[in-house]
Amino acid sequence: MAFFTRRKPAPARPQTAAAPAAPQGRAAARDPAFERRVQELGAEFLGQAREAGAGVFSGSLSVFKDKLMDWAMQDEAFRVQLFRFVDCFPTLRTSDAIYDHLTDYLSQPGVKPPPGFELGMAAGGLAKGLVARTMASQIEGMASKFIAGTDAASAVPALERMWKNGMCFSVDLLGEACVSDEEARAYRQKYLDLVENLPKRVASWPSKPVLEQDHLGAVPRTNVSIKVSSLSARVDPIDAEGSIRGLMEGIRPILLAAKARGVLVNFDMEQFALKDLTIELFKRCCEEIDFEAGLAMQAYLRSAEDDARGLVEWAKRRGRVVTVRLVKGAYWDYETIHAEQQGWPVPVWSRKSDTDACFERVAQYLIEQTPRTLGEGGVKLALGSHNARSIAAALATLERCGLPKSAIELQMLFGMGDALKAAAMAMGMRVREYVPVGEMIPGMAYLVRRLLENTSNESWLKAGFLDNADVSTLVASPHREHESDPGIERIRMAPERHALSCAAAGIGDGRPFFTEPMRNFALAPVREAFGRAVADAKVPAVANDGTAEAAAKAVATADAAFPRWRDREPAERAEFLVRAAAAMRARRDELSAIVVLESGKTWREADADVCEAIDFCEYYARESTRLFARARLGRFVGELDEQWYQPRGVAAVISPWNFPLAICCGMAAAALVTGNTAVVKPAEQTPGIAKALCDVLWESGVPRDVLHFVPGPGETVGAALVRDPRVALIAFTGSKAVGLDIIEAAGRTPEGQHFVKKVVCEMGGKNAIIVDESADLDEAVLGVRQSAFGFQGQKCSACSRVIVLDGAHDVFLRRLVEATRALVVGDPRAPGTDVGPVIDAEAAGKILQYVEIGRGEGKLELSLEVPAGLEARVGKPYVGPAIFSGIRADARIATEEIFGPVLAVIRASSFDEALRIANAPAYKLTGGIFSRKPAHLERARREFRVGNLYVNRGITGALVGRQPFGGFGMSGVGSKAGGGDYLLQFVEPRACCENTMRRGFAPGL
Ligand SMILES: Cc1cc2nc3c(=O)[nH]c(=O)nc-3n(C[C@H](O)[C@H](O)[C@H](O)COP(=O)(O)OP(=O)(O)OC[C@H]3O[C@@H](n4cnc5c(N)ncnc54)[C@H](O)[C@@H]3O)c2cc1C
Repeated sequence: MAFFTRRKPAPARPQTAAAPAAPQGRAAARDPAFERRVQELGAEFLGQAREAGAGVFSGSLSVFKDKLMDWAMQDEAFRVQLFRFVDCFPTLRTSDAIYDHLTDYLSQPGVKPPPGFELGMAAGGLAKGLVARTMASQIEGMASKFIAGTDAASAVPALERMWKNGMCFSVDLLGEACVSDEEARAYRQKYLDLVENLPKRVASWPSKPVLEQDHLGAVPRTNVSIKVSSLSARVDPIDAEGSIRGLMEGIRPILLAAKARGVLVNFDMEQFALKDLTIELFKRCCEEIDFEAGLAMQAYLRSAEDDARGLVEWAKRRGRVVTVRLVKGAYWDYETIHAEQQGWPVPVWSRKSDTDACFERVAQYLIEQTPRTLGEGGVKLALGSHNARSIAAALATLERCGLPKSAIELQMLFGMGDALKAAAMAMGMRVREYVPVGEMIPGMAYLVRRLLENTSNESWLKAGFLDNADVSTLVASPHREHESDPGIERIRMAPERHALSCAAAGIGDGRPFFTEPMRNFALAPVREAFGRAVADAKVPAVANDGTAEAAAKAVATADAAFPRWRDREPAERAEFLVRAAAAMRARRDELSAIVVLESGKTWREADADVCEAIDFCEYYARESTRLFARARLGRFVGELDEQWYQPRGVAAVISPWNFPLAICCGMAAAALVTGNTAVVKPAEQTPGIAKALCDVLWESGVPRDVLHFVPGPGETVGAALVRDPRVALIAFTGSKAVGLDIIEAAGRTPEGQHFVKKVVCEMGGKNAIIVDESADLDEAVLGVRQSAFGFQGQKCSACSRVIVLDGAHDVFLRRLVEATRALVVGDPRAPGTDVGPVIDAEAAGKILQYVEIGRGEGKLELSLEVPAGLEARVGKPYVGPAIFSGIRADARIATEEIFGPVLAVIRASSFDEALRIANAPAYKLTGGIFSRKPAHLERARREFRVGNLYVNRGITGALVGRQPFGGFGMSGVGSKAGGGDYLLQFVEPRACCENTMRRGFAPGL
């Protein structure tokens, strides 16, 4: 039963006189009278807060006052390591582990612990326990400043105190990243309990009119905040509709309960990628259920004004009243870093003043649009800020619009800005605290965000109360015109800043290479265009009917064409690649769609395949120009020493089906740009996309007699190419068996062959990821899942073994199994599909055999079912992801390459053992480690002997120029694709030394 009955809305107040004709938007912010008033209010507010801060609230800032935090703010290197330690602290179970990690973090190069701290760290023995206990209590102390209790029940006394002191609340249940339906259900249940029980507890509290009444009527006493992504394991903007459906299922019971009990539910705003999805979900929930609804919106987003406008228009159109909690945003660092890594426009403002100015503009707009009478749809504003200037600007707008203070409310975080809260209450505002509750592990991400925010040099709160900046600085206007925008500049100048390749004058845009940004599927137009391309695509029809004779003919023509191609200007050849890159860029979605249809890749995998092909062209085009310029060695007078390179001859390019465009393109482009002629023999399973590639290259200027396309069986066409005495170079990616056969065959030099063939050969892997006790399991679970089952495990870089240390094993395994259960096995043409078909029936048969072998070698924890009828609908075979536990390091499924979605989980009792197991196979391709122990990360760098090691991330998806890719041992011979040395394999070095001294005279002395 609901104890809290929603009051009948108060009768509409007489409409306040229409707001004086206020200057709108940006202009209003610059109106001098208005600006003066904002500063007056800001100064008044700040003055009151500082007075309050000097009194009863002085203790509230003590989080800054302890020694560690003081030091952290003085020393950036210490701050980074301290926060990293805080982040992993909850996973550490023993004093030894705490001590170990602490000393490890604080002894990193460049880190200077606070005076006195070193002694404790060096003490060892009994002092270890003391150091660990002291540290634990410091961190728990910090956490308790920002987190009100371990669960809702334990937080109730704090909530009641708050209420009695004149503040209302919004409770937030901290959640781990939700990786499975099980976790989503548990989180939903906690919210249901909260929504069902909290109203009963608050019902008996004394009445507080300021807190329970706004200008339109009653305000619910119980207010909860929710991170919607925790309500479903399947939140991915690429499948907006599917995600919204799943989320609505999760949130509906909560909203119905909230409606019945008069609880306001606020949807928090998370990362930018989820912004549109969250807004759409919010609207649909509001349209379906008449609950008290709130939504957080972030002013640090460049889109903030458009987002606000869209929501207001929707609310007015629907006649619905909702609350917007306007915040600046909590993920600024992440958004900035992530966008740059992806090559996407940065979604957040890059100057603090721009964020502040945007906050004021949006607040002003929302206040101007606030519904003034009952029955009128619109948006009520809650200000989520601790910045007196930002708050003052809203108060000044209220005055200008003739609205009472109760028309907005002020929201602040638990543990922050208490002096400001006191001042706001004294000014008669409704103040609400945002109160997180939860356990340590889920709480850490929140705590670290707060620590970062509180210690940031950009923080208003720090400037106002710790640094005691002067009033005029603190209330100064953020509205300034700037000529440039550092965020836009940062992305624009990324090629020069990263310098991933040389910049070759006249090649492409003359700038260094930069990776092609992948599609941002969070954007609806991007998704729609991709979906249309998938619907319209046709795979080029290619009969795999090439013969040994056809191969020989192609080699003969290529051989004849070689001298002309070899002697062509290197820059011309490079330009053909740049043109090919441009042509593929122009047809990106279409090419991706062909990959989807032909190979069964899902959308993102196919998009990445095409991006990589473009990257190879752009990268090799630039890098090739270095090779053919004669490099002078030394500066001796009388002696001119030079070195340069020449191409080798005819190259056979034998490419696999798993990166049907990228690898084929990379090998062919490398051969061609270095002056070799090429005969391409694609995998029998994916000749269509390879044909599309050759068409692009021909159309871009590569002559027909230089590049040949001979699709056909490996046993005939492939074998003939490898053995043809006119073929000087073989570039191959594929299985170990075929690779070794090629290396052997190429080693023979029949009569009449005047060179030794060069083989560039990439074979396979049996790649492992190590997960230790300090690992962030949210990241480890998702990283392993993606690495093992992305493209159905059919990547040579895929993870097929995960080696988990005892302390983390059981929790990791359970979460991994549940997370994998949440994957959607489906049609790769659908955006929501995670697991598509395997490449063909032969592959399926082989993988299934290994599943059978696995049953005998360990426990089958999961074998994901393939929906009935799917194979027939898609026309390709499926094998659902399988996870085995209890696997010995020498088991067959732990040592043999499977090339499918089969994962062996191996338990290790120590990090040494984990490394030994990881290094055991003859394959040396990729490897990974999830750990937050610096010493383990360093040892992995030195001792985990693989071609590509990935730390705290998945182990697939190497990017050209950034993560040059390739292994050693049985994983292949040759240097890394997409790396600075790769092209050297396609050329031969030549050197020349000229004696330039004639009769004792030489130029240059
Ligand atoms: C009640 C409440 C609920 C909240 N809910 C959410 C939520 O749902 N989602 C969410 O993301 N955040 C949320 N927040 C967090 C909030 O975003 C931060 O606490 C807030 O940004 C701090 O702003 P401020 O005005 O108090 O501080 P200020 O110190 O004035 O501003 C800090 C802001 O400036 C931004 N900034 C710092 N440097 C730069 C720069 N160089 N360029 C541009 N911007 C910069 C920061 O990212 C931050 O957003 C909530 C906050 C409150 C009070």
